[in-house]
Amino acid sequence: MKIVVQKYGGTSVGDIARIKNVANRIIQKKEQGFSPVVVVSAMGNNTDDLLDLAYQISDNPPKREIDMLISTGEQVSIALLSMALHELGHDAISLTGHQVGIKTSGHHTKSKIVDIEDKVLRKHLSDNKIVIVAGFQGSNEDSDITTLGRGGSDTSAVAIAGKLQCPCEIYTDVDGIYSLDPRMYPKAKKLDAISYEEMLEMASLGAGVMHTRAIELAQKHKISILVASSMENKPGTIIKESEPGMESAVITGLAIDNNDALVTLNNVPYSIGITAEIFEMMAKKDINIDMISQTSPKDKLVNISFTTPKSDLVDTRSILGFISKKYPQISFEINENISKLSVVGIGMRSHSGVAAQIFVLLAKANIEVEMVTTSEIKISYAIDPKDQQTAVDLIAREFEL
Ligand code: ADP
Ligand code: ASP
Ligand code: MG
Repeated sequence: MKIVVQKYGGTSVGDIARIKNVANRIIQKKEQGFSPVVVVSAMGNNTDDLLDLAYQISDNPPKREIDMLISTGEQVSIALLSMALHELGHDAISLTGHQVGIKTSGHHTKSKIVDIEDKVLRKHLSDNKIVIVAGFQGSNEDSDITTLGRGGSDTSAVAIAGKLQCPCEIYTDVDGIYSLDPRMYPKAKKLDAISYEEMLEMASLGAGVMHTRAIELAQKHKISILVASSMENKPGTIIKESEPGMESAVITGLAIDNNDALVTLNNVPYSIGITAEIFEMMAKKDINIDMISQTSPKDKLVNISFTTPKSDLVDTRSILGFISKKYPQISFEINENISKLSVVGIGMRSHSGVAAQIFVLLAKANIEVEMVTTSEIKISYAIDPKDQQTAVDLIAREFEL
């Protein structure tokens, strides 16, 4: 049996005509001799609409109930897609994450898949059914419904492909991975292939086209991913292990993130114990932290800054409130008005001077940088959002992205 996992995102199943289009594409694949397992997202902006309902009731609704609510979006689309396939004369069955045995652990709204039982999937496939699975969801050890973080249907698809050891195709509203978001820079170039390492950095630094955890799982299970359009038949981009030829460009891509806030803690006693205590509390709440910087000590005090997703600010504020009560000299500021630009490329391993080149570009345009961090294959700059488009255009042009 030639199994394939296909995933269709929210825009691709955004209305009935699009659901029918997806049904036809699945049938084409089946007629080529494949047994499709199809993962779908909620229709259009349905997840946002559901969250909006929740926040009309409370600023901080219980996360278990958020999961219960937002997981329903995918249940609508899987049922409709299955009906569309039946209407076209094909046997299909829709299944929730729990029914498929997608086991998760961790916190509600950002759970991680720990295991998938393949028994149910394999049974339906051997009965020659097209299996349609709700993306973005699973269930935890208490059998509570959990979700995997925004954009998590990609991860559901890759995790299933990993379990079934089959190819994974992600169909979306762009025809592949571009050097940067084509909505921000229409001249961006489409990449034929990108390495796991670079895609992982791009995704975690804000390129919303793929969910970060999906790339981690693909790398772990050694599964290559095709990202392509759900509307047109164009070649798309392959995400795979890096090959020698892939290192020719210094910079492969530019990721843009407007969903982070910059947190600064002032007057922190210069003590690794206190720094550890703060970051440990954040880690226990599973709060994601990216750029970190610390000033050099003055009068045995330091300032510590870091970026964190705005979606984690409720938890971040409550931890920082606790810390500033415990250590009254510590004060904190949160700046939600920042834009993070990150250049990514495995070519940077063997090529120095990229950070300087970008500083020169930004200086010429009078763009101030609030924070910079680097790693082997990426450099991130936090800047004022008003300068974002100018900086994007300058960097894209300079590096021919
Ligand atoms: P889906 O609903 O299919 O999961 P997403 O909205 O999550 O789709 O991802 C597709 C979008 O990602 C595109 O419309 C595009 O604007 C955006 N995007 C961001 N960075 C990139 C990039 N480097 N290449 C392609 N698309 C990108
Ligand atoms: N529907 C979910 C979201 O909007 C999951 C996904 O689209 O992948 O985040
Ligand atoms: Mg997505």
